[in-house]
Amino acid sequence: MDKSKWDYSIFWKETLNQLRSELSEQEFLMWFDNISYAESTEKKIILSVPSSFYRDQVKERYLSSVENILHNLSGSNIEIDFSINSSPSPAKKEKSKKRTSTAVKKNKPLAATVSNKNHPNLSKDYSFDNFIVGDNSSFAANACMAIAKNPGKAYNPCLIYGGVGLGKTHLIQSIGKYSYENSEDIRVVYVTAEQFTNEFIQAIKNSKQHDFKNKYRKVDILLIDDIHFLQSKDATQEELFHTFNALYDSNKQMVFTCDRPVSEIKNLTDRLRSRFERGLNVDLIPPSFETRIAILKKKMEEKNVAISDEVIELICQNVTTHVRDLEAALTKLIAYADLLNKEITVSIAKSQLKDMFANPKLSNITIDTIQRIVSDYFNLTPNDLRGKKRTKAIAFPRQVAMYITRELTEYSTTEVGLEFGGRDHTTVMHACQRVDSKMQADPSIEPYIRNLIQKIKETGTK
Ligand code: ADP
Ligand code: MG
Repeated sequence: MDKSKWDYSIFWKETLNQLRSELSEQEFLMWFDNISYAESTEKKIILSVPSSFYRDQVKERYLSSVENILHNLSGSNIEIDFSINSSPSPAKKEKSKKRTSTAVKKNKPLAATVSNKNHPNLSKDYSFDNFIVGDNSSFAANACMAIAKNPGKAYNPCLIYGGVGLGKTHLIQSIGKYSYENSEDIRVVYVTAEQFTNEFIQAIKNSKQHDFKNKYRKVDILLIDDIHFLQSKDATQEELFHTFNALYDSNKQMVFTCDRPVSEIKNLTDRLRSRFERGLNVDLIPPSFETRIAILKKKMEEKNVAISDEVIELICQNVTTHVRDLEAALTKLIAYADLLNKEITVSIAKSQLKDMFANPKLSNITIDTIQRIVSDYFNLTPNDLRGKKRTKAIAFPRQVAMYITRELTEYSTTEVGLEFGGRDHTTVMHACQRVDSKMQADPSIEPYIRNLIQKIKETGTK
């Protein structure tokens, strides 16, 4: 890339001006007098600093304010990199040989924002900047961004739902972080439904209901993660219902997440259900191969590591479930490479990740075969599994068949849903979770499912 094409020195100058007006003279001189503009690349300004100590301090204290100012000035996500103009820091292990300067990790502890804001309950690792938007998430991500920019006005309430590890917590926290950092005096509360429940119980125990109400009804943005936890918690549901109404009436933003569509939460009062369904409901589905690659590359950038494209592709072909597993695979390889100080080759990756890689899917097994064998086993017909009936006698075998289909074939949850009477992909996800948890809860179930799988494999591969 032709570096000389990019020149952001003017933005840097203006950033300094703004910082000067925000900081005391002494503070400004102490930290910024020794920094000079070095060069720009397409998305970065590289600053020259006298030492690694200096760089780390400035990063810790000011990076986020600096980047905020820069983003506002330039309208784009220009990042900051540092180069040290004396000898390089020995402390920094050169994990990646491709970089001479230390890449700034956007979402690592950036203590200082313009107003020195750091939300106590929000993770610094979750922001819009490091959320990779793919086909699977673009609607949800855009809605969340709109909410963060316009809380209480864009989509209120909003419910994000989808299976585990797909980015619900990342997105809901990004909303909080963005709004919190970009507005003054905004009260953002983020809790999991479990924390909400526990706090409520404590409040009752200690006769502190008033404080509890004060906390939750006087916010500008209320973010509650994992509301499926509220199943069967009647008193908490009741409290949340009133909280909801109070906030809704005063146009305060609410965002919730859930691991399934609200309609599938059991033991939820109708009136609370209808509140959740009001407003916008968006889903997250598993990322495509291309999106998985983009996500892994982003994670590598954050961790400042270099891994060959071949290995990345290997991981993305084999880890197809969710983003959390992708990250786990990467972390494992990095740890291995660090320990042995070795480059990660495809064969190292294969042997290190063999437990994570699902069995290679058996391509000649069809859904028809699965439906036939499973229905046979339960004394039903394949049409029962494809039909609309939801009686217990059919529902569980259907879930088992869906589960096995996901285990043995490459079909996506959407495709599986279609083959089972045009059901939604979330129903399939839910079915798989159900079967999983039933197998864990009841040891007698697993063997016959294993048997069924074995039988199907034998039939399918003949
Ligand atoms: P959920 O709450 O849906 O179970 P999380 O939000 O905890 O999932 O996501 C699991 C992990 O995957 C987190 O570390 C998160 O940062 C990461 N992740 C998920 N989706 C994305 C994405 N689109 N881009 C980058 N990271 C993602
Ligand atoms: Mg979560």
